[in-house]
Formats: sequence, C-alpha cells, structure tokens
Amino acid sequence: MHTTALVLFSGGQDSATCLAQALDKYERVETIAFDYGQRHRIELDARVQVLHALREQFPAWALKLGDDHLLDLSVLGQVSETSLTRDMEFRMEQSGLPNTFVPGRNLLFLTLAAALAYRRGLEVIVTGVCETDFSGYPDCRDDTMKAMQLALSLGMNRRFLVETPLMWIDKAATWALAERLGGHALVNLIVEHTHTCYLGDRDHRHEWGYGCGTCPACELRLRGWQRWRSGLATPLP
Ligand code: ZN
Repeated sequence: MHTTALVLFSGGQDSATCLAQALDKYERVETIAFDYGQRHRIELDARVQVLHALREQFPAWALKLGDDHLLDLSVLGQVSETSLTRDMEFRMEQSGLPNTFVPGRNLLFLTLAAALAYRRGLEVIVTGVCETDFSGYPDCRDDTMKAMQLALSLGMNRRFLVETPLMWIDKAATWALAERLGGHALVNLIVEHTHTCYLGDRDHRHEWGYGCGTCPACELRLRGWQRWRSGLATPLP
C-alpha cells in the first residue's frame, strides 16, 4: 500500500488535477518542477499560485502537502530548439511532431523526479501525461511510462510506481475529475490559477481560464471545457 507521492507539477490544468488526486489518495505529497528556460515564466508563477490557493482552500490537503522542489534544468534549453524555449511560431515539423516537442524532456523529468523521490523516501511518481488527447508526444505514451518505471526501479534498486491518472481520459473528463475531487471550489481554482496557453497569455480571461484562446493548448482546454459543460465527458473509471 503506497502512502507517499511526488507529483510532477508544472502549474497547468492537468498536473494540478493530478496533484489534487494525489492529495486525496496519499498521506504525504511533495511537488517538483523544472526551470528549463521556458519562454513564459508565467507557468512557474502559476504553480506558486495554485499551491498557495490549495493550502488556503483545502485545509485537509494542506496537512498532507509537503515541500515543493524547483530544479534548474537550463541544460535542456541548451540542447533543444523548440517553440517552448525559443521565440518561434508553433508549427508541425516534418517528423509529424509539433515543434513544441522537447526531445527527452519527460524522460529527464522522470529520471530527476525518481532521484529526488529516492532521497525523500517517496514511493509514487505522479505525472499528468495523456495518450487520449494525443498531441503526438512519444514521451507521453503509456508504453514509455511503463518502460521508465521499470528502468528507474531497476537502476535505483527501489520499486517506484509511475502513476498516470490522466492517461486514458480526455480533457472533458479531466474537468470532471477535478469536480469529483474538490467540487466547484477546485474547478474554480484551476480556472483561475493554472496556466496552459502556449503564448503565455494572461490578459484574456475566458470561462475556462486565461489564454489567447487560439493556440493548440487553449483550443484543447476550451474544447474539453465545452464538452464537460455539455455533459459529454467520457465517464471516469
Ligand atoms: Zn493560447
């Protein structure tokens, strides 16, 4: 029976929902994120706001929420040229992958998260990767996660569980999951404080949160919101 978890928490809708689920499920939860020269520091600011709001509005969760870790991973910005780290337009590459794909990113994140989890005595590593709203990222695949769980567990001689609560649900169901975990208060917190927009837009406030409204990340979030509000979310497991 696992009781402790480390959540990869970027400050977006998905990882905030994963964090809420971990707080619901486990007795001690810590959070980790990486500063790799993201074009928009807004994501890193958003996560501080979300953590603060969670502590304030959910006292039972506040008791379980432990340290937050922000690791410097600027080396990732040095090796990759993508629209997330450089000032480039979003587009699809010849490979069929969007240029927001940072090769090796999730693999590095998980490796560093496991190293930290090892030191902190945390058993479960939670990440919000998802195959359902597949953006084509090969490092978000279920097979990749299972392979990482095995490699990390063997390589560190510690049985880690890599947990992916959103793997098989769509964005509409992610909103539904937030509602189930923390009611309207949690949905409102996610709308107000999380950040998903690729362009880092915090000037335009929509019903579903802040963002430009037209980039792929905003479109996905908007479509999920609309489907959830229309009662079209796929049933939660
Ligand atoms: Zn946007």
